[in-house]
Amino acid sequence: MSKLIIVPTPIGNLEDITLRAIRILKEADLILAEDTRTSGNLLRHLLIQKPLRSFHAHNEHKVVMELVERIASGEKIVLVSDAGTPGISDPGFLIVRECVKQGVDVETLPGPTAFVPALVNSGLPCDRFCFEGFLPQKKGRQTRIKNLVDEERTMVFYESPFRLVKALEEFSAAFGPDRPGCVCRELSKFHEDVQRGTMQSLAEHFTNHPPKGEIVIVVGGKDSKLEVPE
Ligand code: SAM
Repeated sequence: MSKLIIVPTPIGNLEDITLRAIRILKEADLILAEDTRTSGNLLRHLLIQKPLRSFHAHNEHKVVMELVERIASGEKIVLVSDAGTPGISDPGFLIVRECVKQGVDVETLPGPTAFVPALVNSGLPCDRFCFEGFLPQKKGRQTRIKNLVDEERTMVFYESPFRLVKALEEFSAAFGPDRPGCVCRELSKFHEDVQRGTMQSLAEHFTNHPPKGEIVIVVGGKDSKLEVPE
């Protein structure tokens, strides 16, 4: 049966590719990639040679119909993003929605994504959580934060290193300086770093140690506690 297959790729450590992901990539007629150079490097590492085509935020609207028709007519088309799971703060949603609309099956392989290890590693409750992705940089940012003031579930955010301290200070102002949280940097990479504390202590830490790399911020819900050594 023809279907779109979504394949997660490593977020830093190439050993995190699954055996099934490798097989599916080998069987593909066409691989849609957010950045063909980045995915080309991964495919070369895996000794896979397949046609690659760009599929990113700037062209997905234009090409989605044609691609769904090709899947419906029997081509094995696989979607990857630069890192992690397509659709999670990456292109993917639009083509999945169009497949669903046209009755074309979609299969998403389980695999790497940054928010799950960050959440589980945080020490904050992970039985219920909300994924907030990237906050808007300007317009709507404060409203999004304000709407989370009474959120009881653990909250997960993606943030750039350049806005980390700003985000922690904004969370401190909105949720209170003692709200617990965890900042996970460079997960699965050589310089992986996990800092836990309050919004205030984390903001101070990263003011004194300007961060580099990729970051997930996990914030405890209202009334949450996290005990860490002094
Ligand atoms: N699709 C990806 C996923 O499944 O997690 C997310 C892509 S989004 C464009 C990139 C953001 O994910 C980064 O800015 C960072 O917030 C987070 N991220 C990706 N890799 C990471 C890593 N190794 N460590 C920490 N955060 C990471």
